[in-house]
Amino acid sequence: MLQAGIVGLPNVGKSTLFNALTRSRKAEAANYPFCTIEPNVGVVEVPDSRLAVLKGIAKTNVVIPAAVEFVDIAGLVAGASKGEGLGNKFLANIREVDAIVQVVRCFEDDDILHSLGSVDPIRDIQIILTELVLADLQSCEKQLESSIRKAKSMDKESIKNAELLKALVAHLNEGKPAHTLECSDDDKERMKQYFLLTSKPTIYACNVSESDLANPDANLYVQKVREFAKTEHDAETCVICARIEEELSDLSPEEGAEYLKELGAQDSGVSELIRKTYDLLGLASFFTAGEKEVRAWTFKKGMTAPQCAGVIHTDFEKGFIKAEVVSYEDLANAGSVAKAREAGHYRLEGRDYIFKDGDVALFRFNV
Ligand code: GDP
Repeated sequence: MLQAGIVGLPNVGKSTLFNALTRSRKAEAANYPFCTIEPNVGVVEVPDSRLAVLKGIAKTNVVIPAAVEFVDIAGLVAGASKGEGLGNKFLANIREVDAIVQVVRCFEDDDILHSLGSVDPIRDIQIILTELVLADLQSCEKQLESSIRKAKSMDKESIKNAELLKALVAHLNEGKPAHTLECSDDDKERMKQYFLLTSKPTIYACNVSESDLANPDANLYVQKVREFAKTEHDAETCVICARIEEELSDLSPEEGAEYLKELGAQDSGVSELIRKTYDLLGLASFFTAGEKEVRAWTFKKGMTAPQCAGVIHTDFEKGFIKAEVVSYEDLANAGSVAKAREAGHYRLEGRDYIFKDGDVALFRFNV
């Protein structure tokens, strides 16, 4: 399962977020046999309002949402790239995840010390980014040396690698993440072999105070983070209140709704964080819906019908014949399977069909 790593400076709300996620959003492990089970990994349900609608149409009581893994990555200190503190371990943990969620402190609270004495989200972002950039720079410089040696043999691939690494070293030297290097699609593919930390998709989760959740746009720190994410990092952002998420995990749904109403907020922002992370990981959901259960299955965007069948069972992929597919919108608008069929919304798709988010599918296969 693809994983997103939660990072951030001390006292920004990481543990609060992670603990709340793993309590209130915890997925039933038995449904996800490929999950990693470790104390710092949380398997979290992906909220999806379409499931409730499909549940009504399929007339079942069992709903199994998609899930995504969040990893709590131990604190970072400046100097990590030089191996200070838990530096090396921190960087090794980040290397293993597929996307990065950086919790950024955007709340003021005199009772909660900021590790650097003041609230300044852009400085905080830069501290972590600098460590990641430095680690990438070291690794690119090392690889550049060996690729220059190889390029002497005039091997085409080695020459291309050396050129890309040169461009990366110059870019990283300016303190910029590899993710923002302007390059061809071919080079983007090539870059993957270096497993760079700053080429991972990133989302900045602005952690605001309870009172700001109703109108986060007015929070100046949030505005700054959004601007930075757009212009400097090509990263996603979202607004959360980790403390509310934690409080909600102790309340019944009714009490929670009442509490949110008092705050003038819709929710803690964490649903959006999970959905955006899922999307950032390049994941999407297709559904199966029957009397037994309604279920969201995770696939990587771009996967074909047989590959999606394989998500359910390898035998489905091996013996794939056709997929019978209807889009969620068409099924929901029709209101029932029979009506959607009558209206001709069901299609038979073959091996080359690329699945779309929201496809409701039934697979035909040979055993
Ligand atoms: P970590 O070091 O990043 O893991 O930070 P913690 O999750 O331990 O949080 C540090 C302190 O900040 C705790 O006392 C939290 O209760 C508090 N905190 C976390 N999120 C919020 C928030 O959204 N608003 C406020 N006011 N405090 C928060």
